[in-house]
Amino acid sequence: MAKLESKIPAGPLEQKWTKHKAESRLVNPANKRKYEIIVVGAGLAGSSAAATLAELGYRVKCFVFHDSPRRAHSIAAQGGINAAKNYQNDGDSVYRLFYDTIKGGDFRSREANVHRLAEVSVNIIDQCVAQGVPFAREYGGLLANRSFGGAQVSRTFYARGQTGQQLLLGAYSALSRMIGLGGVQMFTHSEMLDLVVVNGHAKGIIVRDLLTGEISRHAADAVVLGTGGYGNVFDLSTYARNSNATAIWRAYKRGACFANPCFTQIHPTCIPVTGDYQSKLTLMSESLRNDGRIWVPKSREDGRKNPNEIPEDARDYYLERMYPAFGNLAPRDISSRAAKKVCDEGRGVGESGLGVYLDFSDAIKRLGENTVRERYGNLFDIYHEITDENAYQVPMRIFPAVHYTMGGLWVDYNLMSNVPGLYVLGEANFSDHGANRLGASALMQGLADGYFVLPYTIGDYLATQKPAARPKTDAAEFQQAENNVRGIVTRLLGTKGKQPVSHFHKRLGKILWNGCGMARNAAALKKALAEIPALREEFWQNVNVPGDGGTLNQSLERAGRVGDFLELAELLCLDALERDESCGCHFREEHVDAEGECLRNDEQFAHAAAWEYQGEGRAPLLNKEPLVYETVHMAKRNYK
Ligand SMILES: Cc1cc2nc3c(=O)[nH]c(=O)nc-3n(C[C@H](O)[C@H](O)[C@H](O)COP(=O)(O)OP(=O)(O)OC[C@H]3O[C@@H](n4cnc5c(N)ncnc54)[C@H](O)[C@@H]3O)c2cc1C
Repeated sequence: MAKLESKIPAGPLEQKWTKHKAESRLVNPANKRKYEIIVVGAGLAGSSAAATLAELGYRVKCFVFHDSPRRAHSIAAQGGINAAKNYQNDGDSVYRLFYDTIKGGDFRSREANVHRLAEVSVNIIDQCVAQGVPFAREYGGLLANRSFGGAQVSRTFYARGQTGQQLLLGAYSALSRMIGLGGVQMFTHSEMLDLVVVNGHAKGIIVRDLLTGEISRHAADAVVLGTGGYGNVFDLSTYARNSNATAIWRAYKRGACFANPCFTQIHPTCIPVTGDYQSKLTLMSESLRNDGRIWVPKSREDGRKNPNEIPEDARDYYLERMYPAFGNLAPRDISSRAAKKVCDEGRGVGESGLGVYLDFSDAIKRLGENTVRERYGNLFDIYHEITDENAYQVPMRIFPAVHYTMGGLWVDYNLMSNVPGLYVLGEANFSDHGANRLGASALMQGLADGYFVLPYTIGDYLATQKPAARPKTDAAEFQQAENNVRGIVTRLLGTKGKQPVSHFHKRLGKILWNGCGMARNAAALKKALAEIPALREEFWQNVNVPGDGGTLNQSLERAGRVGDFLELAELLCLDALERDESCGCHFREEHVDAEGECLRNDEQFAHAAAWEYQGEGRAPLLNKEPLVYETVHMAKRNYK
């Protein structure tokens, strides 16, 4: 059984981080350059970590499967990044951001981590401004803020609808500086396909060069994964198409526990699915809910009418009706379920009936079209390109879609997994968002982890490892891991079946969406749990991967990733079945209160479920980290 020590420091909540930093072991500056650290990923989490560690003097090797660190999925983030600066004087504070995040996550995250996140949020903004990130500003020059779901203050910093891109350019500049100075050695087109564990510690990785197929071994004193989320397990999602779970999944198979895999966020404002041959879904940022109003017709018959002809009194602004205190800014899980509910009642709009309106007519009347264009112009352009509709004139049609994964590898307060020396940052870990993430908090967490947490905590581990004593790559563990990777590649190329990889991915996505999507129940989960292994078996008998392993072969890349998704999907459903309560995104239909909302069971499920791999064909072991709330009272989550 894995040893899960959360390492939460003792003492009052607001002093824990300061005290912990002061008590952590240090590596002296002359020794830092003797340590090599592998960072996999250069999204916001990976690039901020790699740059900062190199600035500190460590030697960093950074790997990405992209052709440039700038291509990471973080670039897609639209709406903004939270920070408790209270520039608006509207009552924000570190405590309020902390509390909103804990409540937003439905009391399924660790208090100490979340408080630290809220504390360092203010440093992130200063760091990014110093790097030149062009955040929107008020007329007087102060940084502007807008609101996001689950908060009654405006604390979201933004750069139009391109916040992720601008933040990533900032982190990328910091990374490029260190690449230029020799502190970071950058490996692009390089996919990590296995973790190497020596004497129980993470000491290296196996990498495949995606252009030449060459498989290489890399040793280090510690390994950091900032490899993003696994939402593409559902096939259709708002993620970049090539985001995947392979790095964390293979680390799981080497002993790292996977926590809360069933906590997947379904975002309420995405462009609805249009057909069977679609490869991805597109987000319409939550920021649009600052000014857009969400509604459906009151009667089913009006569903096919021109929305502009439906009079005001025939419209149901259902979020404003159901959650008057938060209205259109109700959190994502709650808004998504409300959209599902009205569509299930037959009041959905658009051809499929799986859509609701996001309407800007009131905002345009109040602010003028130009102001709306200034705030959200690029999002309206994206919408127009995809739907050929002008959202300044007719309401957008939106529907929930898979968007983010709160689950991920289990980490302690230091962001270290239960495998010593293996750190996990950003969306790849499970750390801060509990059962539901609030909007604009992922960018905050990725940058907090990379700029402000890991640089302090990794020294505490390295100080226990002799400088320059990392294993050599000819060690047996490297050979064994390389053989494993070669075996997978050979098997995929050798199957020579009849169906392309996409065929299996689509089928897996449908099984998951139906069995473990916005609403879950034991019968549907059991059905999915029977279907997934059968599909996996079929994949290995009948997948067709054309070409060979010695050149660029995207079918081969995808096949490896889908092979891993076919395993992860089973764990996801198992976790959802085991968690016999409703909380946040995890809505078990068996557990609802009188008003149809989530009914938590704190007595049995106030824990992080950390699954431990037991070998092929064997059921994984469930470890539980109890969530102890010392400061916050675990209340019923209420947005009414
Ligand atoms: C459309 C969209 C909009 C969003 N908008 C917002 C927003 O406004 N605010 C907010 O807070 N959050 C937003 N999010 C969420 C947020 O963008 C992500 O959670 C965050 O960017 C993840 O950052 P990351 O660094 O953890 O991972 P990523 O940005 O996904 O980076 C992963 C990195 O790992 C590398 N990698 C992965 N696997 C391997 C491997 N096996 N080998 C080598 N390299 C590997 C990739 O090359 C990449 O460099 C949005 C998400 C989406 C989908």
